[in-house]
Amino acid sequence: MDREGSGWTMNLNAAATSLHSVNPSGSVGLALNANVLVLNRFYQAIRVVNVRRAFSLLCRDLAEVIHIETDNKGQSKWQNLNFQDWTELSALKSTFEPDEFDWIHTVRMQIAVPRIIRLLGYDKLPRQDVKFNRRNIYARDGSRCQYCGKKMPSTELSLDHVLPKSQGGKSSWENIVCCCVKCNVKKGGRTPEQAHMHLITKPVKPKRSPVINLRLADERYSSWRQFLDTAYWTVELK
Ligand SMILES: [Zn+2]
Repeated sequence: MDREGSGWTMNLNAAATSLHSVNPSGSVGLALNANVLVLNRFYQAIRVVNVRRAFSLLCRDLAEVIHIETDNKGQSKWQNLNFQDWTELSALKSTFEPDEFDWIHTVRMQIAVPRIIRLLGYDKLPRQDVKFNRRNIYARDGSRCQYCGKKMPSTELSLDHVLPKSQGGKSSWENIVCCCVKCNVKKGGRTPEQAHMHLITKPVKPKRSPVINLRLADERYSSWRQFLDTAYWTVELK
C-alpha cells in the first residue's frame, strides 16, 4: 500500500500540528509533548525525537516500532512492528489498555504514540556529544529559572549569559542558564555578583541528553532504560 499517496502523512501531520491528545478514557494529555526514543539498526539509542517526526519516519517505512510489553511476572517481550501492524495493535490497545499510551487522532482513527522506534537503514553510531541548543539547556535546568528557582513554560523563559557577553562571557554550557524574563531584566548586563543574584545550580555540560534524563524520571518511558544501558550511556541517574 502506498501510504504516502493515500494521505497518511498529511493526516498525521495535520493531527500532529493541530491537536492535543485526548485518550479514550477521557483524560487529556499532551501526546504531542511526548518523546520517542530512536534506535539505529543495531538497537543503539541515537536520539530523541518528537511525535511528529516519529510518525513521519514510520509512515515512510524508514522506521519500525519496537514495542515492549512486560507481563505481571516482570518478563518483557519485544515486538518489531511496521506502521500497519502498529495501527492494528493501536486499535486493540485503545479498547483494552487506553491508559497505557498517549494518543493522536487522525481523521480516520486514533493511533498510540510509540515509545521507541528503530531506523531500518541507519547504522551510524550514537553521537558522543550533547547538542548545545535551547531545548537541551531548558531540559538541563528543568525549565527552572536558575536565579529565582521558578519553573515556567518555555515561552516565559529566556537564556542568560552568567558572565555577560559585554564582559567577555561565552556562549557555552558553563555560561548559559535558563532564566525567567523578570530575573533577566533585573540582572541586566551584570554578573550575578554585581546584581546581587545567586545561581541555584552551577551550570555544567551534561553527560548525556538532558531530555532523556527528564523522560527517564517518568514511568511511561521505563522501556527506554534497556537501550540506554550500554557503554555510551553509562552515567547513572541521580
Ligand atoms: Zn527568575
